[in-house]
Amino acid sequence: MSESRDTREFCPRCGDPVPEREEPLPGEPRERDRVLCDACYFADFELVDAPDRVEVTVCSHCGAVHRGNRWVDVGARDYTDVAVDEVSEALAVHLKAEEIRWGVEPEQVDQNTIRMHCTFSGVVRDTHVEETVVVPVKISRGTCDRCGRISGGSYAAEVQIRGRERVPDPAEQSRAVEIAESLVAEREQDGDRESFVTEIVDQPEGKDVKLSTNKLGKAVATQITEELGGSYTEAPTLVTEDGDGNEVYRVTFAVRLPKFRPGDVIDPDDGDGPVLVRSVRGNLKGVRLATGEPYEARFEEGETPDAEQVGTVDDAVETTVVTVEDDNAVQVLDPETYEAVTIPRPPGVAADAAAVDVVKTDAGLYVVPPESAGDDAAA
Ligand SMILES: [Zn+2]
Ligand SMILES: [Zn+2]
Repeated sequence: MSESRDTREFCPRCGDPVPEREEPLPGEPRERDRVLCDACYFADFELVDAPDRVEVTVCSHCGAVHRGNRWVDVGARDYTDVAVDEVSEALAVHLKAEEIRWGVEPEQVDQNTIRMHCTFSGVVRDTHVEETVVVPVKISRGTCDRCGRISGGSYAAEVQIRGRERVPDPAEQSRAVEIAESLVAEREQDGDRESFVTEIVDQPEGKDVKLSTNKLGKAVATQITEELGGSYTEAPTLVTEDGDGNEVYRVTFAVRLPKFRPGDVIDPDDGDGPVLVRSVRGNLKGVRLATGEPYEARFEEGETPDAEQVGTVDDAVETTVVTVEDDNAVQVLDPETYEAVTIPRPPGVAADAAAVDVVKTDAGLYVVPPESAGDDAAA
């Protein structure tokens, strides 16, 4: 009966007596071989389960790796990196092993084959075990869906970067392109492989940035106008893509950067003289060169008041003050002719000033008001 049962156990394979083993904890997987003696257990113990070989397809354009049925950006620096990752994924270490240590030593066999020497050690049944496996990794090069679409010229949005009555300057153009690229990079970082720049085209009047999705186009146009000012319109056109008969809309986002930029000197021709532009977000704001008084375009004029550009503060130079005549006038040397000329004295020019920055405009020579002048309006 059960009371008199012999509790000694024997190895079912060789018949040797085995010491009693602890029952697995509840929930712990039951190992089929746990009843074997150590000799039989280790006879066919494998610390590592490794595939005979690993094949991996890498996009030769962007380095993405084909896993399962999709492409994954792995951020690998080179093919060895990819091989290490893929082999690590494919190896399985025995469940019962503890204190596992391992290392991989890649050996480049030829351009497409890397042999991975993987060394493992661990402790099983209080015994130190070691195992080395060699897994050849075959790398094949392909083209991922995204790079395929890029090289096929596929795009769903085009952001046209233009200026109002002018060509955007090189800094504005490159910043606009940077904005597009950084928005794509952000999305890529989040694992989005559907957002990409297809092409950037130089046009005489600006840049065309072709993008993969309508949503991305809208985000790019929005951020460009938030940062550089101006506005955009969007116009969808129906196109048929790739010949699969799927009709899709391609959207053109026409960005118009503002006619004037901060630093421009403009003349609103209202009798109060030229204005140094300080801001073109919302409606244009600036400061009168002659008086330092704030200027703000009327709401309905927005960022484009009826005015002509007469100069730019980029052309400002320092010149000698001959004499400060009174509150409203200062005599300086014209930086081009070196003649003494009397020009308006804006606030901020000290009575004993020795030199001031002046800007020559189509509307005459003016002192550049200090940064703070007119800030009430620009704020
Ligand atoms: Zn045995
Ligand atoms: Zn690719």
